[in-house]
Amino acid sequence: MIWVVGAGICRGQITERGKELLRKADIVYGSRRAFELIDFELKEKRVLSRFDSSVFEEIAREGKEKEVVVLSTGDPMVAGLGKKFREMGVEVEIEPGISSVQLALAKLKVDLTEVVVVDCHARDFDSSTLDFLKYRHLLILADRRFDLTKLGDRKIILLENLCMEGESIREGFADSVEVKSDYAIIFVES
Ligand code: SAH
Repeated sequence: MIWVVGAGICRGQITERGKELLRKADIVYGSRRAFELIDFELKEKRVLSRFDSSVFEEIAREGKEKEVVVLSTGDPMVAGLGKKFREMGVEVEIEPGISSVQLALAKLKVDLTEVVVVDCHARDFDSSTLDFLKYRHLLILADRRFDLTKLGDRKIILLENLCMEGESIREGFADSVEVKSDYAIIFVES
């Protein structure tokens, strides 16, 4: 059996159910950052720096015989590992965690239904996405490669390194701010 468990973004944002699954697991896979959010002992930890197809194959194989947990930062279904497992055709169960999206919305006091969430983590921003601004604000998951000039001179709020060292929330215009972190969320007002 394979569970993909959301670790949350800050310590304390994993569910009790998620913790129970981790305690019972024979093997836990996860990134260094995901393991930093867990403050109790695990039977066997496998730290991964990248999830390529050979890793998914290995996890699928082990999940047939053992209790395997894959620890995902934030929530597995927010630009996360849940979709990757679905695309790879590997059957998993998901235990949600608090995502960076929820955390950003909590800071901004904006409701999830007032935004369109866009994934630009390790991928380019498609300018036609700006059409959504007619109806909703944008909440863009970004990394330091994000080109803010694509947002023109719009007013933005840039949230970086939430619950990490160097946490910052800055308000400004897209043409005068720079994304400095790979853990960045850009709020664009409609
Ligand atoms: N599954 C994760 C998202 C993984 S994709 C979740 O639920 O949050 C990685 C993107 O998430 C980053 O590019 C950034 O946009 C966002 N992110 C993750 N951690 C963050 C943090 N601590 N502060 C700000 N944004 C973060």
